[in-house]
Amino acid sequence: MKAVAVFPKERVLRVIDDAPEPRIEKPTQVRVKTLEVGLCGTDQEIARFQYGTPPDGEKYLILGHEALGEVVEVGEGVKGLAPGDLVVPRVRRPCPKAECRPCLEGRPDFCLTGAYTERGIQKAHGFMAERFVEDVAWLHRVPRSLREVAVLTEPLTIGEKALKELEHIQARLPWGREGRKLHAVVLGAGPVGLLGAMALRRAGFTTTVYSYSRPPDERSALVDRMGGRYFSSQDVTPGELEARAGAVDVVYEATGASKFSFDVLGALGPNGIFIFTGVPGRKEPLQLEGGTLMKSLVLKNQVVLGTVNAGPDAFDAALADLQAFTERWPGALQSLITTRYPPEAVPEVLTGKSGGIKRIVHFD
Ligand code: BGC
Repeated sequence: MKAVAVFPKERVLRVIDDAPEPRIEKPTQVRVKTLEVGLCGTDQEIARFQYGTPPDGEKYLILGHEALGEVVEVGEGVKGLAPGDLVVPRVRRPCPKAECRPCLEGRPDFCLTGAYTERGIQKAHGFMAERFVEDVAWLHRVPRSLREVAVLTEPLTIGEKALKELEHIQARLPWGREGRKLHAVVLGAGPVGLLGAMALRRAGFTTTVYSYSRPPDERSALVDRMGGRYFSSQDVTPGELEARAGAVDVVYEATGASKFSFDVLGALGPNGIFIFTGVPGRKEPLQLEGGTLMKSLVLKNQVVLGTVNAGPDAFDAALADLQAFTERWPGALQSLITTRYPPEAVPEVLTGKSGGIKRIVHFD
């Protein structure tokens, strides 16, 4: 079977055509034909041998953690899925430790031990192959109406998990979320940022996207369409952000750039919540004015939160939101997907200069 694999020891990324054909071995497993796989910054880091680990005892790791596929076979214990159904898989699988309650309860996104696996990233093969097998517990059924955009489910789950956490944290205020409309600033106009901005708009936030590139371009046009505002960090400094965009109640960071993010932390308003989602690849030295930052966190009741991966609730919310976005902003999600490549192009695409917004690999 054809797959895109990275050989970290040999420092090689290439298409292989002898990946073992995956077979159903347990009654609850499902065999899936891969249709599309999204490429993201994590894949780029794996392609540059900075991140990612093959399964124990294996030389290579099959890439791909943002997938859409079609069910071709189901084990006899599988309920709720049948051949022909579209599915998206979750990414992280539980660690084997008996003391890890999150993993025991099916929430490895909150794993305590760090011994989890992640398909296409950490010690488990991914979905960038012609077919894959997965337990039904880790699959979500996708309505046919979302065929063209469902490959965006996984990158949207990052924002959906963040929104759920945000709701819990905001509930700490005696009046909850009622009252004034809250203002969210999204850092970064890549797919995670733009999808997060759409989710924040849908959830009722006034939304500003704050990123490097200067408007107008395809990214700022998308932000305009969703009724958000766009500022370039080349035109507006973090220190000017509040004056230009209004008090910042929430920051949703989707850049992985630590210096820029911590600069914006200084612009967070009273009772504000700053959500980090980026996993920086480079070690970036950073000098902080610790006293000023700590004083602001305390005197303004601020919360700084990190969030990674996503559970079943975030996947369900992402699928519901993809449908809602399609109805509210027709064609917007499609315009996020700027380029589609065959698997053979992946090594060059991942190691070259990136262009476009979301890049997709298609297997059909
Ligand atoms: C993926 C997550 C994963 C994280 C850390 C992200 O790109 O979307 O599912 O947990 O990388 O490996």
